[in-house]
Amino acid sequence: MSNLWKTIVRFTSWIFLVFGVMFFPFVEFLGAQETPPQAVRIGVLAKRGPQRALEKWEPTAKYLNERISNYSFSILPLSYDQIYSAVEKEDVEFILANSSFYVGLEMLYGASRILTLKNIHFGKGYKVYGGVIFTRADRKDIRYYSDLKGKTFMTLDEQAFASWPAVWFELKEHGVDPYTDFTSLKFRSPMDAVVLAVRDGEVDAGSIRTDLLERMAMEGSIRLEDFHVLGIKEHKEDIELVPLLHSTPSYPEWPLAKTKNTPDVLAEKVANALLQMTPDSEAAKAARITGWTIPLNYQPVHEVLKKLRIGPYKDYGKVSPMEIVRQYWPWFLGIIVILSSFLTAYLMKINQRLQLAVVDQKNEITMRKKAEKEQRESEENIRLLLESTVEGIYGLDLDGNCTFANPSCAKILGYDEANQLMGKNMHDLIHHTRNDGTPYPMEECKIYQAFREGKTTSVDDEVFWRADGTSFPAEYWSHPMWKDGKTIGTVVTFVDITGRKKAEEELNALNVELIDKNEELEQLIYVASHDLRSPLVNVQGFTTEIGELAKELGLVLSKKEISPKVINKIAPILEKELPHSLNRVLLNVEKMDALLNGLLRLSRVGRAELNIIELDMSKLVSNIIEANKHQIQDKEAEVETGNLPSCFGDESQIDQVFSNLLDNALKYLNPERKGFIKISGERKGEEAVYCVEDNGIGIHEDHHNIVFELFHRLDPKKSEGEGLGLTIISRILNKHGGKVWVESKQDGGSKFFVSLPTIKSLKRRE
Ligand code: ADP
Repeated sequence: MSNLWKTIVRFTSWIFLVFGVMFFPFVEFLGAQETPPQAVRIGVLAKRGPQRALEKWEPTAKYLNERISNYSFSILPLSYDQIYSAVEKEDVEFILANSSFYVGLEMLYGASRILTLKNIHFGKGYKVYGGVIFTRADRKDIRYYSDLKGKTFMTLDEQAFASWPAVWFELKEHGVDPYTDFTSLKFRSPMDAVVLAVRDGEVDAGSIRTDLLERMAMEGSIRLEDFHVLGIKEHKEDIELVPLLHSTPSYPEWPLAKTKNTPDVLAEKVANALLQMTPDSEAAKAARITGWTIPLNYQPVHEVLKKLRIGPYKDYGKVSPMEIVRQYWPWFLGIIVILSSFLTAYLMKINQRLQLAVVDQKNEITMRKKAEKEQRESEENIRLLLESTVEGIYGLDLDGNCTFANPSCAKILGYDEANQLMGKNMHDLIHHTRNDGTPYPMEECKIYQAFREGKTTSVDDEVFWRADGTSFPAEYWSHPMWKDGKTIGTVVTFVDITGRKKAEEELNALNVELIDKNEELEQLIYVASHDLRSPLVNVQGFTTEIGELAKELGLVLSKKEISPKVINKIAPILEKELPHSLNRVLLNVEKMDALLNGLLRLSRVGRAELNIIELDMSKLVSNIIEANKHQIQDKEAEVETGNLPSCFGDESQIDQVFSNLLDNALKYLNPERKGFIKISGERKGEEAVYCVEDNGIGIHEDHHNIVFELFHRLDPKKSEGEGLGLTIISRILNKHGGKVWVESKQDGGSKFFVSLPTIKSLKRRE
């Protein structure tokens, strides 16, 4: 039944009661029916079981029923566990329990004692009781409390006040902590069982309430001499308990208490009735008491529970958080103030950091936006670049599939859109077959070589295949793409070189024609120079002969008599004009011969087979100097040379080159200063560059090119020569894949440079 219901029932009952009292005369007068008696339950701690409790206390209920009208008293046996809840739920109006229970009920539920019972022993009433600590009489080893350490122990129940809390307190006072010092601590009920367990040696010692040992001995279930009670001497002056065996001080016997809502009127009636109970009444006999007395002081019980911190004092001494706050609030306030200032400072710092972070974030966002814009612009530029370039450009992943392609790529390959190429294997699509029609395996493809070997490849002698199945010659470059040190594909750029190939072919054809023509020309020069020389020799011979004849004719004329008129006319012709003319003819014939000789030499250079070997240039040049030493001495010139790098060439022709250069250097020295000639050389890549330097008359800048032309001489009168030397040098170097050039100034000396290859593969420059 809920508390509300009970209150309503009780309230209603009282209304009826009050009305009953008020209107009793009328009710009687009216002959109305009697009000049923009100039930009053007395809860009783059934320490030896409910049956024993009923046997013991029902006569008391009956006793009350006989003396107090309109109430029906009954006994409700309660186990140790039921006591508190019965009072809390108000299942009982009165409660009879041991002193420790009462102390708890008083503190927690407002129960208040109205009487204390007087226990009977050998005809005498005891309103106090205590605990008994006992062992078997033959256990000589257990005489003092301290002897209990390390022993086994048994008692009734943790809540049976006299048997345990009172005993525990006593032991504690004597330095024994049962919960740590005993080997074992057992609980058993009913209380008689504890006595028997000690007697039978099941445990070493035990505790019970006073008078049980005596009562059991009287009943004949034990013999007192079989037991030894500890601590008797300690409390022998406890007058109240003197006749009984006891180990603890005396504590007030069980009280009878009313519960919180039980009316005082009823309580008074009950108390009055019970105080009048005599020892010989049935109720007293059954309850083994001599009767009831006014309620005792239960403070000692409070003290025990408080010290043991059990029952209502379970949390005694523990300071509640609220108490701490109440006691130390200034400190708390101070700490809170300090903490809050720290917190404020911390928050301000965090806030500051947050603001900085926000600024950073904003900057980062701005920078990111800027970077994104730049990237977009750059992508746009790349897109425009890709779209506007005429070169075909496409990208490949490592599988050779197309990842991007520009419009030119699609256009050159004959596709409508670049998208048509995306994801396609480009080798299979455009590079599957070679120019000669044989298949081109992908493993050999030079485009893939770029990412296989990580280096750029460039090819101009392969073909690409269009969408319509036709092919075109392509020049392509395959550049590997790198990311984090690894190739991720390649970018291929290519152009259709059909036009170029055609131009190349035409050029090659022209070249071949030119070579043929050149050879023809050389042949012509050779033939002309060679064949013209014989008629020239004849002209020379006959001219000489005419001269001789003219001399003879002069002698003939001097011997015969010829008129002086004729002699005067013929003599100047024979002696002067004819020899002079013949002399002129001879001079021109000689000149023509020299020219023809030169042409012959030139044509020989063009026609000569080259025998290319590695040349020790230091040796070659020093031989030339040696050969020209007389000329050098004549000119009183100084010639210097050092270590010259080697080169590849035809020994006799290269000898001719440097002989001519040294010859010119000596020939064109300035007579007004000491001649100085230096021959040096250095290696530059795949070429060796030599220099023949002099401090001679020099060549004006305007004439630097024409000095290499055929028969060109700058100042024919000042020196001998045919104006052919530099032409032949130029021709020789051309054939060697080398070059000759001059650096010079009028009267500033000249530097003639010659470059020759240092490796054997020579390209002839025709
Ligand atoms: P040549 O037989 O006249 O020397 P080259 O072909 O050797 O014919 O030279 C052509 C011309 O170049 C020469 O006539 C001369 O004027 C000029 N020349 C050549 N070498 C030198 C030089 N070392 N210093 C000045 N002039 C030079």
